[in-house]
Amino acid sequence: MQSRMILIVGLTLVTAGVVGSQAGAQSGRTPEDLRARVDALATELHPAIIEIRRDIHRNPELGFRETRTAALVADRLRALKFDEVRTGVGGTGVVGVLKGARPGPVVAVRADMDALPVPELIDVPYKSIVPNVKHACGHDGHTAMALGVAEIFARMRVDLPGTVVFLFQPAEEGDPDGGPTGALKVLDDWPLTNPTPAAIFGLHVMPTLHVGKIGYNSGGAMASADRFTIKIIGKSTHGAMPHTGIDPVPIAAQVVEALQMIPARQIDAQKPTVVSVGTISGGSRFNIIADSVTMTGTVRSLSEDGPSTVKAKMTQLLQGITSASGATFELEYVETAPVTFNNPALVTASLPALEAAVGAENLVSPPAQMVAEDFAFYQKKIPGFYFFLGVANPDKGITAMWHTEYFDIDEDALRIGMKAMASVVLQYLSR
Ligand SMILES: [Zn+2]
Ligand SMILES: [Zn+2]
Repeated sequence: MQSRMILIVGLTLVTAGVVGSQAGAQSGRTPEDLRARVDALATELHPAIIEIRRDIHRNPELGFRETRTAALVADRLRALKFDEVRTGVGGTGVVGVLKGARPGPVVAVRADMDALPVPELIDVPYKSIVPNVKHACGHDGHTAMALGVAEIFARMRVDLPGTVVFLFQPAEEGDPDGGPTGALKVLDDWPLTNPTPAAIFGLHVMPTLHVGKIGYNSGGAMASADRFTIKIIGKSTHGAMPHTGIDPVPIAAQVVEALQMIPARQIDAQKPTVVSVGTISGGSRFNIIADSVTMTGTVRSLSEDGPSTVKAKMTQLLQGITSASGATFELEYVETAPVTFNNPALVTASLPALEAAVGAENLVSPPAQMVAEDFAFYQKKIPGFYFFLGVANPDKGITAMWHTEYFDIDEDALRIGMKAMASVVLQYLSR
């Protein structure tokens, strides 16, 4: 079964050019013709894309270490006769440019390639061969599907109106050594210029959505993720004579409580916001008043102005509480990922293509997620749409959540994801 699949992979590559020129003889296709062709190609390529997904799943690589995956991607894009294939983008990323034969806009498709430091506990033929590293977020599927979309468009090149840039991004889950995530590194090397996409599309597999369904949100889809460190600075003294110092411990307690007033009382309830204190420490001995208390935490928000609002309220609150007690404070507020904000006009324009791809009854709008996604950094620069692909199938025992040892996807979703992404991009290029 596997060797036969590999043959199919080889065959598709060899015949790509031939099929492309056949398509050229049939220019002047209607949008319906093109949609039907996307559908047929997604079905035809499905077995090969499953094999690619399994190959990547077997050989997972952590962020900024995706050398094997990147080489596989670059080789395939070159075999598909892409106009340009850049490697080493943002470390281990790959950017491939495919110019259609007809004039049109430039659009980007982004897939992430990194795995997680999670052991693989599912027993499948494509089980990870790397100890304690697993594609537990489905990025193997994202990469394989994007390669499928790349082949669909390469084979429709003569009918393709515009340019598609495929971005295979490293380290969406972050750098295992710390530091910025892959999207920021990519933007250093390719700040979405030359070529300059007018819009960017991406998708994420979703284990809470049944295979066959597509989920989307207009506006905030996934939360911003910020990190803060607060230091309350008091004055140390003997524990029996607190009035001779400034005790930062009760002041810190007030701050922890007051922080909850920000989401509960100072932010519009229509703009979901979470403020969580994760760590707190201070003091050295039971009978000594501490000189300082340090706490760290995270802020999540689904509105674009959420992080700046929380930061301003937090500063105001710290000024008030500390000055009332004669203490001082230091605040470090780091915006690690903005809101994954789907441009409402782009979403509205894309829905007909998604509907046509999966059927209106399979297009759903799940609640927005409070987890973050670094696709958001691209959306800060250009309009973007990030949607969700159902991969759950309880009948096949596929129900595990992202980032768990048992995570897997129903591979039927790969065909649906290819079709949905190619349809949305094609609709944008054709409008
Ligand atoms: Zn993840
Ligand atoms: Zn992910």
